[in-house]
Amino acid sequence: MDRRWEGDVWGPNVSRRGVLLGGLVLTGAIGGLIRPQEAWAAGPGVKAPPIIGCDAWRAREPSDVVPVWEQRPVRIIVHHTATPNVEDYSRGAGEFVARKIQDFHMDRRGWIDTGQNFTISRGGYVLEGRHGSLEVLRSGDRHVEGAHCTGQNVEAVGIENEGTYSTLTPPDKVWARLRAMCAYICQQYGIAPTEIGGHRDFKDTLCPGDRFYAMLPRLRTEVADSLGEPLDDRAARRASWPLLRPESSGPAVEAAQHLLRAAGLVDVQPNSRFDERTAVAVRQYQQAHRAEEVNGLIGGETWPLLVTAQGGDQDEVALAVRALTPDGAVRASAIPGVEEWKRLLSAADHRP
Ligand SMILES: [Zn+2]
Repeated sequence: MDRRWEGDVWGPNVSRRGVLLGGLVLTGAIGGLIRPQEAWAAGPGVKAPPIIGCDAWRAREPSDVVPVWEQRPVRIIVHHTATPNVEDYSRGAGEFVARKIQDFHMDRRGWIDTGQNFTISRGGYVLEGRHGSLEVLRSGDRHVEGAHCTGQNVEAVGIENEGTYSTLTPPDKVWARLRAMCAYICQQYGIAPTEIGGHRDFKDTLCPGDRFYAMLPRLRTEVADSLGEPLDDRAARRASWPLLRPESSGPAVEAAQHLLRAAGLVDVQPNSRFDERTAVAVRQYQQAHRAEEVNGLIGGETWPLLVTAQGGDQDEVALAVRALTPDGAVRASAIPGVEEWKRLLSAADHRP
């Protein structure tokens, strides 16, 4: 297994939590879980892009009953497979990768079926991932639970895009099909295009790659345009947790360092550089909080924990706020709520 491609599909850091969800039969009377959707009116009808169903790409049968929820998903999560950027753009190559992913998810991760709901191959072929995902999408009233993002699988449609997009952008065909797919999903389920996110919004992961992740505001804009309901730039660029890692520096790192100190990890020096001491402290913090992966990255799983820690050193928390508000926009004595932290960190990360 080549570690360069560590990630969603072939990564060695295997989570088996998905297994625990297998075997649940979640159909029928689960009315309490059905939440009223905020109506999002789609404009002119968007047609489904061609989608290759599980039978057509010769998927294996799931090893257990696939959970189907009598409710609509509320967001879309974009992934990259973190596999090589192959240049065979044929349909055969697309079906091949769908089978490889299913084998890996079932045989190595121990899941009941493919983890994601849909896959887009390097050639732009859209393939059904987990069995049943296509049928429920067409009817627009139910959701097939996947295993692509722990904590989000009951609520989010997962789309894996074949390739690694840390420094490269997806091929035009992948982009066009992803846009078409997102527009169709938004229409069918009444999901607002602002609810299109990336894996790193929820977990400490590089997925879907820096370049691809930076394109998500454009994706939201283009999907909204496809639906005839244009978004303003501010909505398209919604706040997001910065993904901090060893090469990171700046005010978001300094804020994280103060928050780690507030949590008792006082070996960390607040120097705005993601140095080795910081990386060690992040791993300790992840271990203590039973994060899904103890990998030293601060992303969508660790940030919400860090900013809501109770009972820590409040002076350090105040210093974290100050690091993010050099102009004193927030009084240092006022501790922000989670969304405000996210907004401050996002702004600090994008400040030139
Ligand atoms: Zn992912």
